[in-house]
Amino acid sequence: MGHTGVDPLIYLDYNATAPVRPEALAATTEALTAVGNASSVHAAGRDASLAVNQARERVAALLACSPNELIFTSGATEANNLAIQSAARPGQSLVISAVEHPAVTEAAVAVADAVGSKVHTVGVHRDGTLRLEELEEALATSPALVSIMAANNETGVLSDLDLVVKIAHEAGALVHSDATQLVGRLPIDLRRLQLDLLSLSGHKFGAPQGVGALFVRRGTVPAIRPLMHGGGHERGRRPGTLNVPGIVGLGAAAEAAARCLDQEAARIRLLRDRFETAVLTALPGTRRNGHPDRRLPGVSSLTFDGLPADAMLAAMPAIAASEGSACAAGAMEPSRVLLAMGLSRDEAECTIRFSLGYATTADDIDSAIRHVIDAERRVHAALYPNTTTTASGTARGQEGPRRHDA
Ligand code: PMP
Repeated sequence: MGHTGVDPLIYLDYNATAPVRPEALAATTEALTAVGNASSVHAAGRDASLAVNQARERVAALLACSPNELIFTSGATEANNLAIQSAARPGQSLVISAVEHPAVTEAAVAVADAVGSKVHTVGVHRDGTLRLEELEEALATSPALVSIMAANNETGVLSDLDLVVKIAHEAGALVHSDATQLVGRLPIDLRRLQLDLLSLSGHKFGAPQGVGALFVRRGTVPAIRPLMHGGGHERGRRPGTLNVPGIVGLGAAAEAAARCLDQEAARIRLLRDRFETAVLTALPGTRRNGHPDRRLPGVSSLTFDGLPADAMLAAMPAIAASEGSACAAGAMEPSRVLLAMGLSRDEAECTIRFSLGYATTADDIDSAIRHVIDAERRVHAALYPNTTTTASGTARGQEGPRRHDA
């Protein structure tokens, strides 16, 4: 798939979706050229079923869980809905954080409405980390489920899931984590981390789009209630013919990611830090969002003071990055996540998320640094023509227009 206009595109939007890994492309292509419904009992069906089993083992290996603790879904949106619907109980609340993806927030609100329960939302600090005192208060209401994301899609901020699991279990709640942005990027060990439910999505770590999984810990969770009516696939928990090409692609991506998780994370972190240091040093009006250490290695959320993200992105068409999150882009509302962290509407609207991943190179980063610095200077000059430029960067003038006038 090409893009129009500028070549080459520097892709820094891995949190929206990652390029398909070569291993996943090969596995999916091979499955697409074969025939076979994984439920059929003839040889072609058995081959499809064997390929699905192998993929299930590979995803289980990435998470350190058992293959039969996984339900394949169409992605994390479905996995989140399945988890929340299954765990909700009439009269018992659902606890979520203020920075969850809409696939958790909206699902929780709808399910709470349907079963007659309430959603308690736990706020975050300025650095994006959870307000533990608010979590403790919410737990005092004996919720049925606590759903806290593993890593935030906009800032990369990581949750202290060990602590969440410990205190939520003490309060008698089940714990779900939307780990869409963490899986395949940082190690996770479900033998140690006692989550009851976890959602993942393949396309964030190099599988094709439209496939994901829900982990359901054996024995600890009430029955999974399917979202749809249909056949008995996935042991009665997710009806519909299995997406064999997607599932084998997910398995191949999981195996490829697992092979070099630590090295890849370290390499990406170095590139991200180099990007941030260069941009923040050259552009003193720029700030980084989110906890400096407790975040994904590949994410950089930057606020360019007084410079709207849409103008900045238009000024650097060679770079693919997002304003707020891709899911919210298009809607005119500023990012809920950034507002929950205490940024103003103006600050949120002047924020860009750069996200790096397994195929990002040092050359990508060096070019990106040049494009960002150049774009900042040009947008600044266009919006604030009467200001001075200092040796270390630009200084906003007293008379410059507010961004809404621009
Ligand atoms: N949760 C998070 C944190 C996400 O970033 C996304 C994707 N933007 C989703 C859920 C939804 O995933 P999917 O596209 O697989 O439905």
